[in-house]
Amino acid sequence: MEVVSPQRILVVGAGHVGLYAALRLSRKLRARQAEVTVVDPQPHMTYQPFLPEAAAGNISPRHSVVPLRRELKRCKIVSGAVTRIEHSRKTATVQPIIGPPLEIEYDQIIVAPGSVSRTLPIPGLRENGIGFKTIGEAIYLRNHVLDRLDVAAATTDPETRRRALTFAFVGGGYAGIEALAEMEDMARDALKYYPELSVGDMRWVLVEATQRVLPEVDRDMGAYTVQQLLNRGLDIRLDTRLESCVDGVVKLSDGDSFASDTIVWTAGVKPSPMLDDTDLPRDDKRRISCLPTLQVVDGDKVVEGAWSAGDCAAVPDLTGPPGTFCSPSAQHAVRQAARMADNIRAVIRGKEPVPYKHKHAGSVASLGLHKGVAQVYGIKLKGPIAWFMHRTYHVSRIPSFNRKVRVVIDWTLAFFLKREVVALGQLHDPREEFTEVTPRVG
Ligand SMILES: Cc1cc2nc3c(=O)[nH]c(=O)nc-3n(C[C@H](O)[C@H](O)[C@H](O)COP(=O)(O)OP(=O)(O)OC[C@H]3O[C@@H](n4cnc5c(N)ncnc54)[C@H](O)[C@@H]3O)c2cc1C
Repeated sequence: MEVVSPQRILVVGAGHVGLYAALRLSRKLRARQAEVTVVDPQPHMTYQPFLPEAAAGNISPRHSVVPLRRELKRCKIVSGAVTRIEHSRKTATVQPIIGPPLEIEYDQIIVAPGSVSRTLPIPGLRENGIGFKTIGEAIYLRNHVLDRLDVAAATTDPETRRRALTFAFVGGGYAGIEALAEMEDMARDALKYYPELSVGDMRWVLVEATQRVLPEVDRDMGAYTVQQLLNRGLDIRLDTRLESCVDGVVKLSDGDSFASDTIVWTAGVKPSPMLDDTDLPRDDKRRISCLPTLQVVDGDKVVEGAWSAGDCAAVPDLTGPPGTFCSPSAQHAVRQAARMADNIRAVIRGKEPVPYKHKHAGSVASLGLHKGVAQVYGIKLKGPIAWFMHRTYHVSRIPSFNRKVRVVIDWTLAFFLKREVVALGQLHDPREEFTEVTPRVG
């Protein structure tokens, strides 16, 4: 059945789910069938699996993001944040990056604002911690770590030097492990240009509350990862929690305590808090309740016109035991996006949606240049081959041919010319010098 007036499809969030779904819908539906509007406060989608490599300087940060206006030419882009969804009125409130809030009416809504860092009320964390989920955080961390090497090389005070060269990471999932391993690898490389410092002066600490790292792979692969990091001289604390970090003094549950200028929090994610201002049904983990078709569901009743997927959604995993849900991962997010787009197309044409079913293929993680760990369809790989697999997998996944070429060129340049290890600290305070030389008026 052909629709008469175009369906107004609103996409909340242009991340892994939103970008892929909008792209597919705009390609598969004609303008007279659908108008796709995408709302996101960022002008780009961030390919998060590349954040550790962007922070380590193997990829330009600009190449690990995908510009929305360039890729979604057939969609309307609204730069702002959705602050409220009243699905009973099929209306979303948007706070644009400038100007008063506006209301957008829709026929179908894709709710995909993803997740935020899952933090805990730990004294000092708010003031001293930094997350690792955005491109801004990745760039900041890179500059900050390199800047700490400069501080350590310049100071004559042993306490300041020790503190500058102590880097603490909390959380041993793939984000934390990759961020830690890549940053340590970069800092180790950078030390070649610091005759004042040696690798033994640095202290890299991983604090993980459970007894293992990388829960996405089998225990033996997690144990291998720990052993690799120990061999590199990293300090791995399993079964240990961060108790406080007031004024940068890290106190651990095992009784140890040390001062650090760098405390990175990568201990998991929780659904976007924006969902609190919606009338959509949610589960006990505050995720949007979905059917395997990616339609939002209230009890056993489909919420007509509402769809969700990715980190903010509870999507039943049809390949697991009953009651299990798809893990928050890019792997599920992009596949769910494709299924959802096809299901929306089917529903507006009066056809039946198809359930999403994908068995998690496994994980690939980079542990620095030429080092990695991977478990894909049960096959376990270690070292350079796993690292190569990590790179080929992710370059095949990042959206657009343009990005793929840029990323491969970045890697090739870094291979021949070595990566750049210089801090651009002024990025974080660019007006300082100009303000100092400009006279005050009045
Ligand atoms: C460092 C790191 C490494 C990772 N590595 C891997 C990996 O190797 N393999 C893997 O499978 N997964 C990996 N992941 C996880 C993966 O990136 C996520 O599961 C995936 O991004 C989830 O997709 P999403 O679309 O739900 O959310 P996102 O991709 O986070 O997108 C959410 C979007 O919504 C926007 N948004 C937020 N709030 C609003 C609002 N109020 N209004 C409008 N827009 C909003 C955001 O700006 C963002 O663009 C990694 C994550 C991190 C942080």
